Amino acid sequence: MSDGEGAMDWRKGLRPETLAIRTGIHRTAEQEHSEPIFPTSSFVFESAGEAADRFAGRVPGNIYARFTNPTLRTLEERLAALENAEDCISTASGMAACLTVFMGILQAGDHVVASRSLFGTTVQLLQGILGRFGVETTFVQLTDLSAWEAAIRPQTRILFLETPSNPMTEIGDLQALASLAHGHEALLVVDNSFCTPVLQRPLHWGADLVIHSGTKYLDGQGRTLGGAVCGSRDLLTGPRSFVRTAGPSLSPFNAWVQLKGLETLGLRMERHCANAMELAQWLENRPEVSRVHYPGLASHPQFELAARQQRLPGGILSFDLGGGQERAWKFMDALRIFSRTANLGDVKSTVTHPASTTHSRLTQEARAAAGIGDGLLRLSVGLEHVEDLRDDLVRGFSGLSQDGIALS
Ligand SMILES: *Cc1c(COP(=O)(O)O)cnc(C)c1O
Repeated sequence: MSDGEGAMDWRKGLRPETLAIRTGIHRTAEQEHSEPIFPTSSFVFESAGEAADRFAGRVPGNIYARFTNPTLRTLEERLAALENAEDCISTASGMAACLTVFMGILQAGDHVVASRSLFGTTVQLLQGILGRFGVETTFVQLTDLSAWEAAIRPQTRILFLETPSNPMTEIGDLQALASLAHGHEALLVVDNSFCTPVLQRPLHWGADLVIHSGTKYLDGQGRTLGGAVCGSRDLLTGPRSFVRTAGPSLSPFNAWVQLKGLETLGLRMERHCANAMELAQWLENRPEVSRVHYPGLASHPQFELAARQQRLPGGILSFDLGGGQERAWKFMDALRIFSRTANLGDVKSTVTHPASTTHSRLTQEARAAAGIGDGLLRLSVGLEHVEDLRDDLVRGFSGLSQDGIALS
Protein backbone atom coordinates (compact mmCIF):
# COMPACT_ATOMS: atom_id res chain seq x y z
CA MET A 1 0.00 0.00 0.00
CA SER A 2 2.89 2.36 0.79
CA ASP A 3 3.83 2.26 -2.87
CA GLY A 4 0.51 3.77 -4.03
CA GLU A 5 0.39 7.33 -5.29
CA GLY A 6 3.93 8.27 -4.31
CA ALA A 7 5.17 5.53 -6.59
CA MET A 8 4.11 7.50 -9.61
CA ASP A 9 6.73 10.17 -8.90
CA TRP A 10 9.88 8.10 -8.81
CA ARG A 11 8.63 5.94 -11.64
CA LYS A 12 8.29 8.86 -14.00
CA GLY A 13 10.66 8.52 -16.92
CA LEU A 14 12.01 5.13 -15.85
CA ARG A 15 12.71 2.82 -18.75
CA PRO A 16 11.02 -0.56 -19.25
CA GLU A 17 14.11 -2.53 -18.16
CA THR A 18 14.02 -0.77 -14.80
CA LEU A 19 10.24 -0.87 -14.40
CA ALA A 20 10.25 -4.62 -15.07
CA ILE A 21 12.57 -5.17 -12.11
CA ARG A 22 11.64 -2.45 -9.63
CA THR A 23 7.90 -1.81 -9.81
CA GLY A 24 5.35 -3.07 -7.32
CA ILE A 25 7.67 -4.25 -4.56
CA HIS A 26 6.06 -3.99 -1.09
CA ARG A 27 8.45 -5.58 1.40
CA THR A 28 7.09 -7.35 4.45
CA ALA A 29 8.57 -6.89 7.95
CA GLU A 30 11.20 -9.50 6.97
CA GLN A 31 12.72 -7.03 4.48
CA GLU A 32 13.14 -9.75 1.87
CA HIS A 33 14.97 -8.63 -1.27
CA SER A 34 13.13 -10.85 -3.74
CA GLU A 35 9.37 -10.61 -4.18
CA PRO A 36 7.56 -12.87 -1.69
CA ILE A 37 4.81 -15.28 -2.68
CA PHE A 38 1.54 -15.37 -0.76
CA PRO A 39 -0.05 -18.79 -1.28
CA THR A 40 -3.10 -18.03 0.81
CA SER A 41 -6.74 -18.04 -0.19
CA SER A 42 -7.93 -15.72 2.59
CA PHE A 43 -6.72 -13.05 5.01
CA VAL A 44 -7.33 -12.53 8.73
CA PHE A 45 -9.05 -9.53 10.36
CA GLU A 46 -7.85 -8.05 13.69
CA SER A 47 -11.41 -7.64 14.88
CA ALA A 48 -15.03 -8.00 13.86
CA GLY A 49 -15.05 -4.26 13.27
CA GLU A 50 -12.11 -4.46 10.91
CA ALA A 51 -13.80 -7.25 8.97
CA ALA A 52 -16.86 -5.07 8.54
CA ASP A 53 -14.71 -2.10 7.50
CA ARG A 54 -12.83 -4.12 4.90
CA PHE A 55 -15.98 -5.64 3.46
CA ALA A 56 -17.53 -2.19 3.23
CA GLY A 57 -14.38 -0.83 1.58
CA ARG A 58 -13.91 1.73 4.39
CA VAL A 59 -10.35 0.51 4.98
CA PRO A 60 -8.11 -1.02 2.34
CA GLY A 61 -6.79 -4.52 2.76
CA ASN A 62 -7.06 -8.05 1.48
CA ILE A 63 -10.11 -10.20 2.13
CA TYR A 64 -10.02 -13.19 -0.16
CA ALA A 65 -7.66 -14.22 -2.97
CA ARG A 66 -10.36 -14.23 -5.64
CA PHE A 67 -10.48 -10.43 -5.07
CA THR A 68 -6.88 -9.52 -4.24
CA ASN A 69 -3.60 -11.14 -3.28
CA PRO A 70 -0.33 -9.25 -2.71
CA THR A 71 1.63 -11.39 -5.20
CA LEU A 72 -0.95 -10.69 -7.89
CA ARG A 73 -0.93 -7.01 -7.01
CA THR A 74 2.83 -6.79 -7.51
CA LEU A 75 2.48 -8.35 -10.96
CA GLU A 76 -0.43 -6.05 -11.82
CA GLU A 77 1.43 -2.91 -10.77
CA ARG A 78 4.47 -3.99 -12.75
CA LEU A 79 2.51 -4.74 -15.91
CA ALA A 80 0.58 -1.49 -15.60
CA ALA A 81 3.88 0.41 -15.31
CA LEU A 82 5.28 -1.41 -18.35
CA GLU A 83 2.22 -0.65 -20.47
CA ASN A 84 2.11 2.88 -19.07
CA ALA A 85 -1.44 2.13 -17.95
CA GLU A 86 -3.26 3.43 -14.88
CA ASP A 87 -4.07 -0.08 -13.73
CA CYS A 88 -4.02 -3.78 -14.56
CA ILE A 89 -5.97 -6.93 -13.64
CA SER A 90 -4.30 -10.32 -13.77
CA THR A 91 -6.23 -13.37 -14.94
CA ALA A 92 -5.73 -17.13 -14.99
CA SER A 93 -4.78 -17.23 -18.69
CA GLY A 94 -4.74 -15.15 -21.83
CA MET A 95 -8.17 -16.48 -22.79
CA ALA A 96 -9.46 -15.54 -19.33
CA ALA A 97 -8.17 -12.01 -20.03
CA CYS A 98 -10.11 -11.89 -23.32
CA LEU A 99 -13.24 -13.23 -21.62
CA THR A 100 -12.81 -10.70 -18.80
CA VAL A 101 -12.75 -7.80 -21.25
CA PHE A 102 -15.79 -9.03 -23.18
CA MET A 103 -17.85 -9.90 -20.08
CA GLY A 104 -16.78 -6.80 -18.21
CA ILE A 105 -17.64 -4.37 -21.00
CA LEU A 106 -20.25 -5.86 -23.32
CA GLN A 107 -23.89 -6.75 -22.97
CA ALA A 108 -26.39 -8.62 -25.12
CA GLY A 109 -27.08 -6.71 -28.32
CA ASP A 110 -23.57 -5.26 -28.52
CA HIS A 111 -21.38 -5.75 -31.55
CA VAL A 112 -17.65 -6.35 -31.95
CA VAL A 113 -15.49 -5.79 -35.01
CA ALA A 114 -12.46 -8.06 -34.88
CA SER A 115 -9.48 -8.86 -37.04
CA ARG A 116 -9.87 -12.11 -38.95
CA SER A 117 -6.26 -12.94 -38.02
CA LEU A 118 -6.80 -13.61 -34.32
CA PHE A 119 -5.61 -16.42 -32.10
CA GLY A 120 -7.99 -19.25 -33.06
CA THR A 121 -9.46 -19.67 -29.59
CA THR A 122 -10.31 -15.97 -29.43
CA VAL A 123 -12.34 -16.39 -32.62
CA GLN A 124 -14.12 -19.35 -31.02
CA LEU A 125 -14.78 -17.37 -27.85
CA LEU A 126 -16.35 -14.52 -29.80
CA GLN A 127 -18.31 -16.66 -32.25
CA GLY A 128 -19.09 -19.83 -30.35
CA ILE A 129 -19.60 -18.55 -26.82
CA LEU A 130 -20.37 -14.83 -26.80
CA GLY A 131 -22.57 -15.37 -29.86
CA ARG A 132 -24.84 -17.48 -27.66
CA PHE A 133 -25.26 -14.53 -25.30
CA GLY A 134 -26.33 -12.06 -27.95
CA VAL A 135 -22.96 -10.47 -28.77
CA GLU A 136 -22.33 -10.43 -32.49
CA THR A 137 -18.90 -10.21 -34.11
CA THR A 138 -17.90 -9.19 -37.62
CA PHE A 139 -14.45 -10.35 -38.73
CA VAL A 140 -12.46 -8.17 -41.12
CA GLN A 141 -9.08 -8.18 -42.85
CA LEU A 142 -6.58 -6.71 -40.36
CA THR A 143 -4.85 -4.36 -42.79
CA ASP A 144 -7.98 -3.12 -44.62
CA LEU A 145 -9.02 0.07 -42.79
CA SER A 146 -12.05 0.61 -45.01
CA ALA A 147 -13.31 -2.89 -44.12
CA TRP A 148 -13.08 -2.00 -40.41
CA GLU A 149 -15.01 1.19 -41.01
CA ALA A 150 -17.66 -0.50 -43.13
CA ALA A 151 -18.23 -3.16 -40.44
CA ILE A 152 -18.98 -0.64 -37.68
CA ARG A 153 -22.62 -0.42 -36.58
CA PRO A 154 -24.37 1.79 -34.03
CA GLN A 155 -24.12 -1.18 -31.59
CA THR A 156 -20.34 -1.58 -32.03
CA ARG A 157 -18.59 -1.30 -28.67
CA ILE A 158 -15.20 -2.90 -29.32
CA LEU A 159 -12.65 -3.06 -32.14
CA PHE A 160 -10.32 -5.98 -31.39
CA LEU A 161 -6.98 -6.97 -32.92
CA GLU A 162 -3.57 -8.56 -32.52
CA THR A 163 -0.53 -7.07 -34.20
CA PRO A 164 1.64 -8.56 -35.64
CA SER A 165 -0.80 -11.26 -36.66
CA ASN A 166 -0.22 -14.98 -36.41
CA PRO A 167 1.26 -16.57 -38.52
CA MET A 168 1.55 -14.01 -41.35
CA THR A 169 2.96 -11.14 -39.19
CA GLU A 170 0.63 -8.56 -40.74
CA ILE A 171 0.61 -5.25 -38.91
CA GLY A 172 -2.53 -3.46 -37.71
CA ASP A 173 -2.30 0.35 -37.73
CA LEU A 174 -2.98 1.11 -34.06
CA GLN A 175 -3.22 4.88 -34.42
CA ALA A 176 -5.63 4.72 -37.36
CA LEU A 177 -7.80 2.05 -35.70
CA ALA A 178 -7.90 3.97 -32.41
CA SER A 179 -9.16 7.10 -34.11
CA LEU A 180 -11.68 5.04 -36.09
CA ALA A 181 -12.94 3.42 -32.86
CA HIS A 182 -13.18 6.71 -31.00
CA GLY A 183 -14.99 8.37 -33.89
CA HIS A 184 -17.73 5.78 -33.36
CA GLU A 185 -17.72 5.71 -29.55
CA ALA A 186 -16.14 2.29 -29.51
CA LEU A 187 -13.07 1.03 -27.66
CA LEU A 188 -9.88 -0.25 -29.27
CA VAL A 189 -8.71 -3.43 -27.54
CA VAL A 190 -5.31 -4.86 -28.49
CA ASP A 191 -3.94 -8.30 -27.67
CA ASN A 192 -0.26 -7.41 -27.19
CA SER A 193 1.00 -10.93 -26.43
CA PHE A 194 3.31 -11.09 -29.47
CA CYS A 195 5.14 -7.83 -28.78
CA THR A 196 4.95 -7.38 -25.01
CA PRO A 197 5.21 -3.79 -23.70
CA VAL A 198 8.96 -3.90 -24.36
CA LEU A 199 8.36 -3.78 -28.12
CA GLN A 200 4.99 -2.05 -28.38
CA ARG A 201 2.78 0.02 -26.09
CA PRO A 202 -0.66 0.15 -27.71
CA LEU A 203 -2.00 2.74 -25.23
CA HIS A 204 0.55 5.20 -26.60
CA TRP A 205 -1.15 4.94 -30.02
CA GLY A 206 -4.61 5.48 -28.56
CA ALA A 207 -5.75 1.95 -27.68
CA ASP A 208 -8.06 1.74 -24.66
CA LEU A 209 -7.30 -1.70 -23.27
CA VAL A 210 -4.35 -4.05 -23.69
CA ILE A 211 -4.61 -7.82 -23.22
CA HIS A 212 -1.76 -10.22 -22.52
CA SER A 213 -1.33 -13.93 -22.56
CA GLY A 214 1.32 -14.05 -19.84
CA THR A 215 1.81 -17.68 -20.84
CA LYS A 216 3.98 -16.51 -23.74
CA TYR A 217 6.83 -13.98 -23.46
CA LEU A 218 5.95 -12.60 -20.01
CA ASP A 219 6.67 -15.94 -18.36
CA GLY A 220 9.03 -16.60 -21.24
CA GLN A 221 10.04 -20.07 -20.16
CA GLY A 222 6.89 -22.05 -20.81
CA ARG A 223 6.08 -22.79 -17.18
CA THR A 224 2.74 -21.18 -16.38
CA LEU A 225 -0.56 -19.98 -17.76
CA GLY A 226 -1.49 -16.40 -17.01
CA GLY A 227 -3.07 -13.31 -18.46
CA ALA A 228 -3.66 -9.63 -17.84
CA VAL A 229 -5.72 -6.63 -18.92
CA CYS A 230 -4.22 -3.12 -18.72
CA GLY A 231 -5.97 0.24 -19.09
CA SER A 232 -7.57 3.10 -17.24
CA ARG A 233 -9.03 2.50 -13.78
CA ASP A 234 -12.39 3.59 -15.09
CA LEU A 235 -12.48 1.13 -18.00
CA LEU A 236 -11.21 -1.68 -15.78
CA THR A 237 -14.09 -1.35 -13.31
CA GLY A 238 -16.34 -3.79 -15.18
CA PRO A 239 -13.57 -6.31 -15.97
CA ARG A 240 -12.32 -6.24 -12.35
CA SER A 241 -15.80 -6.87 -11.04
CA PHE A 242 -16.14 -9.78 -13.48
CA VAL A 243 -12.91 -11.41 -12.22
CA ARG A 244 -13.95 -11.00 -8.59
CA THR A 245 -17.39 -12.43 -9.24
CA ALA A 246 -16.76 -15.12 -11.82
CA GLY A 247 -13.33 -16.15 -10.50
CA PRO A 248 -10.87 -16.50 -13.42
CA SER A 249 -8.21 -15.31 -10.98
CA LEU A 250 -4.49 -16.01 -11.38
CA SER A 251 -2.82 -18.31 -8.86
CA PRO A 252 -0.20 -16.64 -6.62
CA PHE A 253 2.42 -19.16 -7.71
CA ASN A 254 1.88 -18.43 -11.40
CA ALA A 255 1.91 -14.69 -10.66
CA TRP A 256 5.23 -15.07 -8.89
CA VAL A 257 6.76 -17.08 -11.75
CA GLN A 258 5.64 -14.40 -14.20
CA LEU A 259 7.07 -11.65 -11.99
CA LYS A 260 10.43 -13.41 -12.18
CA GLY A 261 9.91 -13.72 -15.94
CA LEU A 262 9.33 -9.99 -16.27
CA GLU A 263 12.71 -9.23 -14.72
CA THR A 264 14.44 -10.57 -17.83
CA LEU A 265 11.79 -9.56 -20.38
CA GLY A 266 13.80 -6.70 -21.89
CA LEU A 267 16.93 -8.78 -22.34
CA ARG A 268 15.01 -11.73 -23.69
CA MET A 269 13.00 -9.71 -26.21
CA GLU A 270 16.13 -8.12 -27.63
CA ARG A 271 17.73 -11.50 -28.22
CA HIS A 272 14.50 -13.08 -29.54
CA CYS A 273 14.34 -10.25 -32.08
CA ALA A 274 18.03 -10.38 -33.01
CA ASN A 275 17.88 -14.15 -33.58
CA ALA A 276 14.63 -13.89 -35.55
CA MET A 277 16.06 -11.11 -37.73
CA GLU A 278 19.14 -13.13 -38.54
CA LEU A 279 17.16 -16.24 -39.43
CA ALA A 280 14.62 -14.23 -41.46
CA GLN A 281 17.37 -12.66 -43.57
CA TRP A 282 19.07 -15.99 -44.04
CA LEU A 283 15.82 -17.78 -44.99
CA GLU A 284 15.00 -15.06 -47.51
CA ASN A 285 18.12 -16.01 -49.45
CA ARG A 286 17.45 -19.75 -49.52
CA PRO A 287 16.33 -20.97 -52.95
CA GLU A 288 13.86 -23.44 -51.34
CA VAL A 289 11.91 -20.62 -49.67
CA SER A 290 9.32 -18.77 -51.74
CA ARG A 291 8.46 -16.14 -49.11
CA VAL A 292 9.49 -15.02 -45.61
CA HIS A 293 7.01 -13.09 -43.45
CA TYR A 294 8.81 -10.96 -40.86
CA PRO A 295 8.14 -7.28 -40.07
CA GLY A 296 11.88 -6.58 -39.84
CA LEU A 297 12.49 -7.36 -43.52
CA ALA A 298 12.37 -4.52 -46.05
CA SER A 299 10.31 -6.91 -48.21
CA HIS A 300 7.50 -6.93 -45.60
CA PRO A 301 4.60 -4.91 -47.07
CA GLN A 302 4.24 -2.94 -43.81
CA PHE A 303 7.90 -2.64 -42.90
CA GLU A 304 7.60 1.11 -42.23
CA LEU A 305 4.46 0.88 -40.12
CA ALA A 306 6.07 -1.86 -38.02
CA ALA A 307 9.21 0.24 -37.57
CA ARG A 308 7.09 3.17 -36.42
CA GLN A 309 4.86 1.41 -33.92
CA GLN A 310 7.19 -1.33 -32.64
CA ARG A 311 10.61 -0.89 -31.07
CA LEU A 312 11.83 -4.14 -32.67
CA PRO A 313 10.17 -6.52 -35.19
CA GLY A 314 9.48 -9.41 -32.78
CA GLY A 315 10.49 -13.03 -32.32
CA ILE A 316 7.95 -14.72 -34.60
CA LEU A 317 8.34 -15.33 -38.32
CA SER A 318 6.85 -17.60 -40.93
CA PHE A 319 8.10 -18.79 -44.27
CA ASP A 320 6.68 -20.64 -47.23
CA LEU A 321 8.44 -23.66 -48.67
CA GLY A 322 6.04 -23.72 -51.60
CA GLY A 323 4.66 -27.15 -52.34
CA GLY A 324 2.26 -28.97 -50.10
CA GLN A 325 1.93 -30.34 -46.63
CA GLU A 326 4.28 -33.27 -47.27
CA ARG A 327 7.17 -30.93 -48.01
CA ALA A 328 6.52 -28.81 -44.92
CA TRP A 329 6.15 -31.85 -42.67
CA LYS A 330 9.37 -33.35 -44.03
CA PHE A 331 11.22 -30.15 -43.22
CA MET A 332 9.69 -29.99 -39.77
CA ASP A 333 10.37 -33.60 -38.89
CA ALA A 334 14.04 -33.25 -39.81
CA LEU A 335 14.58 -30.54 -37.17
CA ARG A 336 16.23 -31.52 -33.90
CA ILE A 337 16.43 -28.27 -31.94
CA PHE A 338 13.17 -26.49 -32.82
CA SER A 339 10.42 -28.14 -30.77
CA ARG A 340 7.35 -29.28 -32.67
CA THR A 341 4.75 -27.56 -30.49
CA ALA A 342 2.02 -24.98 -30.87
CA ASN A 343 3.40 -22.76 -28.13
CA LEU A 344 5.38 -19.58 -28.73
CA GLY A 345 7.25 -16.91 -26.82
CA ASP A 346 9.47 -19.42 -25.04
CA VAL A 347 13.27 -19.46 -24.61
CA LYS A 348 13.04 -22.71 -26.57
CA SER A 349 12.54 -22.24 -30.31
CA THR A 350 9.39 -23.82 -31.68
CA VAL A 351 8.09 -24.74 -35.12
CA THR A 352 4.43 -25.06 -36.13
CA HIS A 353 2.67 -26.10 -39.32
CA PRO A 354 -0.36 -23.77 -39.11
CA ALA A 355 -2.44 -25.38 -41.90
CA SER A 356 -2.65 -28.74 -40.09
CA THR A 357 -2.73 -27.47 -36.48
CA THR A 358 -3.50 -23.94 -35.25
CA HIS A 359 -5.41 -23.00 -38.42
CA SER A 360 -6.81 -26.42 -39.36
CA ARG A 361 -10.34 -25.36 -38.37
CA LEU A 362 -10.41 -22.85 -41.22
CA THR A 363 -11.57 -24.05 -44.62
CA GLN A 364 -8.92 -24.47 -47.30
CA GLU A 365 -10.35 -21.37 -49.04
CA ALA A 366 -10.22 -19.27 -45.88
CA ARG A 367 -6.63 -20.32 -45.32
CA ALA A 368 -5.73 -19.55 -48.92
CA ALA A 369 -7.34 -16.11 -48.58
CA ALA A 370 -5.23 -15.47 -45.49
CA GLY A 371 -2.08 -16.64 -47.29
CA ILE A 372 -1.67 -19.67 -45.02
CA GLY A 373 -0.59 -22.25 -47.56
CA ASP A 374 0.16 -25.91 -46.89
CA GLY A 375 3.86 -25.14 -47.28
CA LEU A 376 3.90 -22.47 -44.57
CA LEU A 377 5.84 -22.98 -41.33
CA ARG A 378 5.87 -20.66 -38.33
CA LEU A 379 8.91 -20.24 -36.12
CA SER A 380 8.96 -18.79 -32.63
CA VAL A 381 12.64 -18.02 -32.41
CA GLY A 382 14.09 -18.72 -28.99
CA LEU A 383 17.29 -17.92 -27.19
CA GLU A 384 19.50 -20.81 -28.30
CA HIS A 385 22.65 -19.78 -30.19
CA VAL A 386 21.51 -18.47 -33.55
CA GLU A 387 24.11 -20.50 -35.45
CA ASP A 388 22.80 -23.70 -33.89
CA LEU A 389 19.30 -22.67 -34.93
CA ARG A 390 20.48 -21.98 -38.46
CA ASP A 391 22.23 -25.35 -38.59
CA ASP A 392 18.97 -26.94 -37.51
CA LEU A 393 17.15 -25.25 -40.40
CA VAL A 394 19.88 -26.52 -42.74
CA ARG A 395 18.95 -29.98 -41.42
CA GLY A 396 15.36 -29.19 -42.43
CA PHE A 397 16.39 -28.25 -45.95
CA SER A 398 18.48 -31.42 -46.20
CA GLY A 399 15.35 -33.32 -45.13
CA LEU A 400 13.60 -32.03 -48.23
CA SER A 401 16.04 -33.78 -50.51
CA GLN A 402 15.93 -37.07 -48.59
CA ASP A 403 13.35 -39.76 -48.54
CA GLY A 404 13.78 -40.42 -44.83
CA ILE A 405 11.73 -38.29 -42.45
CA ALA A 406 13.34 -37.58 -39.09
CA LEU A 407 17.03 -37.64 -38.35
CA SER A 408 16.41 -38.10 -34.64
C1 LIG B 1 -1.71 -17.90 -26.54
C2 LIG B 1 -2.45 -16.69 -26.92
C3 LIG B 1 -3.67 -16.38 -26.31
C4 LIG B 1 -4.30 -17.26 -25.26
O1 LIG B 1 -3.54 -17.27 -24.12
P1 LIG B 1 -3.61 -18.50 -23.04
O2 LIG B 1 -2.70 -18.02 -21.97
O3 LIG B 1 -3.12 -19.72 -23.76
O4 LIG B 1 -5.01 -18.61 -22.61
C5 LIG B 1 -4.31 -15.22 -26.70
N1 LIG B 1 -3.78 -14.41 -27.65
C6 LIG B 1 -2.59 -14.67 -28.25
C7 LIG B 1 -2.07 -13.74 -29.27
C8 LIG B 1 -1.90 -15.83 -27.92
O5 LIG B 1 -0.75 -16.11 -28.55
